[in-house]
Amino acid sequence: MFHQKRNNSITDFIIVGQGIAGSVVALTLIKSGYTVSIVDQPGLSSSSKIAGGIWNPVVFKRLTKSWMADELVPELRNFYSIWEKEFNTELIQDRHIIKPFTEEQEETLWLKKSQGAEPENVFLDSHIYKNLPVDEHYHVKKYSRVLQAGNLNVPHFLACTKKYLKEYYEFLEEAFDHDQLKITDLGISYKSLTGSNILFCEGHLISSNPYFNWIPMKPAKGETLTIYSEHIQLESDIFNKGFFILPLGNKLFKIGATYEWHTLNDIPTEEGKTELLKKLNAVVTTPYQIISHEAGVRPSVIDRRPVIGRHPEFANMYLFNGMGTKAVMLAPYFAKQLVESIRNNSKIDGEVDLSRFVV
Ligand SMILES: Cc1cc2nc3c(=O)[nH]c(=O)nc-3n(C[C@H](O)[C@H](O)[C@H](O)COP(=O)(O)OP(=O)(O)OC[C@H]3O[C@@H](n4cnc5c(N)ncnc54)[C@H](O)[C@@H]3O)c2cc1C
Repeated sequence: MFHQKRNNSITDFIIVGQGIAGSVVALTLIKSGYTVSIVDQPGLSSSSKIAGGIWNPVVFKRLTKSWMADELVPELRNFYSIWEKEFNTELIQDRHIIKPFTEEQEETLWLKKSQGAEPENVFLDSHIYKNLPVDEHYHVKKYSRVLQAGNLNVPHFLACTKKYLKEYYEFLEEAFDHDQLKITDLGISYKSLTGSNILFCEGHLISSNPYFNWIPMKPAKGETLTIYSEHIQLESDIFNKGFFILPLGNKLFKIGATYEWHTLNDIPTEEGKTELLKKLNAVVTTPYQIISHEAGVRPSVIDRRPVIGRHPEFANMYLFNGMGTKAVMLAPYFAKQLVESIRNNSKIDGEVDLSRFVV
């Protein structure tokens, strides 16, 4: 419905990378009437391929509202539901996040924050619940729930987007070779592609991009397990007790995630597995089977904000990156902001504009 008829002349945007960031910004451009061409190498490192896809408007550490949650949550719902209609499929699911209380103070703080004029109150259920069975042996004695949380089916979203992009636009499945990029004031050429602009969405592989390798990233490796259990009784809600159990359906559960800042690769480790199993086994004592163990690298920025905008030297080159731990929530709102800034020359939020790193 939104796509422009592809012709063989210049595309408006060549986009490098089709993770969550590249997908969301490509669809946002298309909805605004632009044409796109994509270059993505599926075999390269991708955080999106292993992401839990959870959005959580609450930071558990101090029980505060997550940065800009009031703006980000409505926009993510709006964005994904538009594309659910276009792709004729379900992409997002509303889910509660179960927060068990282990100490009295946690419950007291929760009750305070979930009531009255506290800014968090729209996201916190003010009711305290009792006795949630996780499996036959383990019951959460007391807990409450994060409201307005949920989950994007990331593999399905990426697959639907790829199918759509391939159907209506040019899509090169290969590693982008930055040496072959030719930039002039009139446009961009890359191998068989010509475009008015280029937009990089390479996740943590931005470190190999000669045009943007000066952005101060602080990527974080993360590992997850997928397990099969006949016994875990969580059906839809996400359990969070310093780690998450995300029900995937068909008795499969995703368990995550670890954080590590030194060895930045996609190789799952024994240490990562041990850490996740230790947390899981404190809750689930019934048998389960490990189906897969995966690792990825979150593209976080040193100040933990997205990094988007126009290159300081090349007016037709853009960046959409830095989605860190929260791509599902951040990408729709900031893709819209980036596209509006391109279209109307409007300002990008100073906290996310890449110009904050230009000296
Ligand atoms: C364990 C773990 C759990 C997570 N859970 C969640 C969660 O529950 N919710 C949430 O919101 N976020 C989560 N995240 C974070 C989320 O995964 C990232 O923020 C998000 O995936 C980043 O998307 P991206 O598109 O910027 O990067 P990526 O997903 O890394 O995508 C980059 C894409 O660019 C391509 N690419 C890069 N360089 C080139 C090149 N030179 N040529 C061609 N293609 C190239 C890659 O192949 C890839 O497809 C999690 C991350 C991890 C590691």
